[in-house]
Amino acid sequence: MKSEFDICIIGAGMAGATIAAYLAPKGIKIALIDHCFKEKKRIVGELLQPGAVLSLEQMGLSHLLEGFEAQTVKGYALLQGNEHTTIAYPDQHLGVGLHNGRFLQQIRASALQNESVTQIYGKALQLLENERSEIIGVSYRDSMSSEIKSIYAPLTITSDGFFSNFRADLSNNEKTVTSYFIGVILQNCDMPFPKHGHVFLSGPTPFICYPISNNEVRLLIDFPGDQLPRKHLLQAHLETNVTPYIPECMRNSYEQALQEGGFKVMPNHYMAAKPIVRKGAVMLGDALNMRHPLTGGGLTAVFSDIQILSSHLLAMPDFNNTDLIHEKIEAYYRDRQSANANLNILANALYAVMSNDLLKKAVFKFLQCGGANAQESISILAGLNRKHSSLIKQFCFLAFFGAFDLVREQILNLPKAIKLLWDAFFIIKPLIKNEINLFAFANSYFSKIKYFPPLSYTAKIQRP
Ligand SMILES: Cc1cc2nc3c(=O)[nH]c(=O)nc-3n(C[C@H](O)[C@H](O)[C@H](O)COP(=O)(O)OP(=O)(O)OC[C@H]3O[C@@H](n4cnc5c(N)ncnc54)[C@H](O)[C@@H]3O)c2cc1C
Repeated sequence: MKSEFDICIIGAGMAGATIAAYLAPKGIKIALIDHCFKEKKRIVGELLQPGAVLSLEQMGLSHLLEGFEAQTVKGYALLQGNEHTTIAYPDQHLGVGLHNGRFLQQIRASALQNESVTQIYGKALQLLENERSEIIGVSYRDSMSSEIKSIYAPLTITSDGFFSNFRADLSNNEKTVTSYFIGVILQNCDMPFPKHGHVFLSGPTPFICYPISNNEVRLLIDFPGDQLPRKHLLQAHLETNVTPYIPECMRNSYEQALQEGGFKVMPNHYMAAKPIVRKGAVMLGDALNMRHPLTGGGLTAVFSDIQILSSHLLAMPDFNNTDLIHEKIEAYYRDRQSANANLNILANALYAVMSNDLLKKAVFKFLQCGGANAQESISILAGLNRKHSSLIKQFCFLAFFGAFDLVREQILNLPKAIKLLWDAFFIIKPLIKNEINLFAFANSYFSKIKYFPPLSYTAKIQRP
């Protein structure tokens, strides 16, 4: 069926709005559908790692970070008891802390200013198929009239976030909840290390903070388990596991925030990407793939996916050949897996490490030593180093360093050292199995490229 659109994008969130903002100026005709285009106050996607910032720069979209008090982040600070260590991002790269809602509105405005984008207020309901079971568009409930309508396009991108309605059609995986994040904003808060992301390791579970505007700091507190914390449990968790470990300089802002309430609680999911490749549709963003947000890797993955998918789509002369679109979708799924494996493995491995006393101490000491290992580790966290060999090497170094350190302290610690190695192995093994395919790994191992260049493809593209 001939359609007035090249692409129909379901969900104008971080993924959907950004790919629309990137592709629309290149003349691609886009229908952008969402049931809500208003600014929301969310606790997600507020720290952009340098890898995400780099992707925006490479797409020519970094100006979207300007004009709303987004904050520069230079690196990380880890705090445990009375000790701390800081690690700068490598090679002068910078991260950014921001209000997700404000950032998203800028991206949406940038997409919608293009004549080739049609904004559609509505809730997407069902993918439409032809007689060959190819996807040809989507039905939606129009927000104004409540009528059920349809949009047709040769390609439908489902980017409707972590509660995606379309996984049953396009994915083979189930999401699992690893823990919850309790989010609160601290006003006029002095952090121990300005312009740094902070990871607090003193309590039984980690909490993190980073600046999101000139006078606001986002505090995200982990609540372990897969059950939504009830009010009294949440209160008890804060009193016992968080309040005693808040540094003195943050205490006033923290206590004021506690009095005012207004916590937001969000589930932290893990879901490896297991796409079902179908003609006419492709998944993007949290709908396809999720990892623990401890490392702030979500948007790095989303933006690099957008670069990879776009580069494949822009290599086509137009959107008339559905077989060619299908080939491009396959290529995107293949390429994105190796591009994102480090982000996914690190996020979930680090969360497990931080929840394990022996490994938590080891990681702190390991990074405290500084030097090349700390630099390589932060470049992986920053989303700049996507080589699987680097990640596996650093994880092994960490485990052996921790085990050796225990034995060096006291030979009687040998059973603890063995447990540490055992735990480390069982943390990393299933993640590697889920995220890395051996062919991609061999490829990356022999590659001489230190930093994964997400836009190595762009040289080939550029349509008028
Ligand atoms: C607690 C938490 C903290 C996080 N912190 C960070 C961080 O600091 N840094 C980072 O990089 N990542 C972070 N992430 C991850 C990051 O926020 C996500 O990866 C990113 O927002 C995913 O973007 P998305 O477009 O897939 O989903 P979303 O941004 O959620 O967008 C989905 C869009 O789809 C729309 N939609 C949904 N259903 C329909 C429908 N049926 N019809 C039409 N529209 C629909 C929604 O209205 C929404 O606009 C965090 C995640 C969590 C849970």
